[in-house]
Amino acid sequence: MQLSSLGYSDNLQRELERLRATRGEPRLEAGRVMAEHRGAYQLLTETGLCTAELTGKLRHEALDRLDLPAVGDWVALGPDGRVEAVLPRTSVFVRKQAGQRPEPQVVAANIDYAFVVTSANADFNPRRIERYLAAIAESRARAVIVINKTDLCDDVQAFVRSLGSSADGVPVVCVSAIEQRGLDQLEPYLLGQPTIALVGTSGVGKSTIVNWLLARDAQATAPIREHDARGRHTTTHRELYPMPAGGALIDTPGMRELSLWAEEDPAPGSFDDIEALGQKCRFVDCQHRGQPGCAIQLAVADGSLAPARLAHYEKLQQERAQAVQRGTPAERQSIARTGRARAKALREAKRGPNRGKLP
Ligand code: GDP
Ligand code: ZN
Repeated sequence: MQLSSLGYSDNLQRELERLRATRGEPRLEAGRVMAEHRGAYQLLTETGLCTAELTGKLRHEALDRLDLPAVGDWVALGPDGRVEAVLPRTSVFVRKQAGQRPEPQVVAANIDYAFVVTSANADFNPRRIERYLAAIAESRARAVIVINKTDLCDDVQAFVRSLGSSADGVPVVCVSAIEQRGLDQLEPYLLGQPTIALVGTSGVGKSTIVNWLLARDAQATAPIREHDARGRHTTTHRELYPMPAGGALIDTPGMRELSLWAEEDPAPGSFDDIEALGQKCRFVDCQHRGQPGCAIQLAVADGSLAPARLAHYEKLQQERAQAVQRGTPAERQSIARTGRARAKALREAKRGPNRGKLP
């Protein structure tokens, strides 16, 4: 397998050579992570597939899981068959893990294009697309909006128009995966051995597009879809697939779960409805937890506000309050001013000198 057909670049080769020099180990080789399972990495190298573990040095020097390899990473493989280093990433999708002490985790690395798949029907939701675009912008991958199922609708342009300014500067492509129409529009994003990932709500046709791009049988995706349905992250299959004409496609449960974040974790400002309700509570300091005359609890009771949505709103408020408490006076002010995005940046910046700067 030629690594260049997977997107291995001159830049990466320079990084590898730099590592060879600084470590005094000319036998370091490049590989790409196709999957990871319990600390064992499945790699594609110039000489084929192999399974490798990490060196103790890499594991111990990692400040957190962000420093460890993930699907899509290019790594340097030592002569003893262990991964010695992660080569610099061009993009990275990170998510905070659920739990008491949330630890960020790399979902996938080095994605060039993230296709935001949506369908030309009632599921189409510009606000949701906006949230995907925000997540992709953070990752440094480039977004492409793919409107699928155009065979089901007469006026695709109406969907394109309804995206409005939220999609400014983001290319929009209209396809029908089932009829395999629109490949010519996708082609610009398939040239030059790119790495592609698909995000989007369940049912919009991601698997159908994956099969189309990989020119493979629909049956091949069946096991992945089962994992998906149970919401489990098991890695018994590959997660990075070479595309027939070059480049790679990353299809992982983690990337698919991006849709959950986009559904469940709306961007700041999109809780306007709850905040408007809160204005109507009888007491100005209403905690919305059983106080008399609480408009929010009333909305939950009459079914016009989903309890899950209220729970997310509360969680967000809580995170924000905690960040305000922790900061210095100046930081507290700026958090209070700009809210959650900034609070997050602040948390990350505090974790170390190279952990991102305050915006
Ligand atoms: P995923 O959950 O996003 O992976 O969606 P799937 O690829 O499993 O597709 C969900 C359903 O939509 C399946 O029944 C597909 O056959 C159907 N589907 C996918 N693409 C198209 C399309 O372009 N047009 C139509 N009409 N149906 C499609
Ligand atoms: Zn209230």
